[in-house]
Amino acid sequence: MYCSSCGSAVAQNLNYCNRCGAKVSDAKIGGVNKTAMSFHISLINAIAAVFIVGLGAIAVLIGVMKQVVGFDTSIILAITLISFAMMLTVESVLIRLLLKGKKGTEEADDLAKRQNEQTTRELEEAQARVLPEPMPSVTEHTTRTLEPVYSERKSE
Ligand SMILES: [Zn+2]
Repeated sequence: MYCSSCGSAVAQNLNYCNRCGAKVSDAKIGGVNKTAMSFHISLINAIAAVFIVGLGAIAVLIGVMKQVVGFDTSIILAITLISFAMMLTVESVLIRLLLKGKKGTEEADDLAKRQNEQTTRELEEAQARVLPEPMPSVTEHTTRTLEPVYSERKSE
């Protein structure tokens, strides 16, 4: 964890920075990102758990069907395939959720970047617009208004 005001490393269990005394709160260090991260981690855990538990359940099921019930090999194969397909469906739903969540955060990042680029471009455009048209100089203005008066006096 790093201090948000001075940038020095702060121990995880501390609430205040050792160097500058600023409050170090979790919310300041991208609270939204953190919750999204924990969501991703729990999704990955769920995917792994479903895979392991599913494979175990299928293996047990095959064993039970073979040893206890005494099903035909073709029936065992069919049931195994069906349960495997069900497991894959659950996995694909979870993976889609994971990808969707990742895509969402990436889109948010992109949006922030695009907004940043837009503001800088607007600033550049504003500067470019100001530069080619210099303000009419004050001296130019005064000489112009004074000239006729001066020439009139000269002609008198
Ligand atoms: Zn600090």
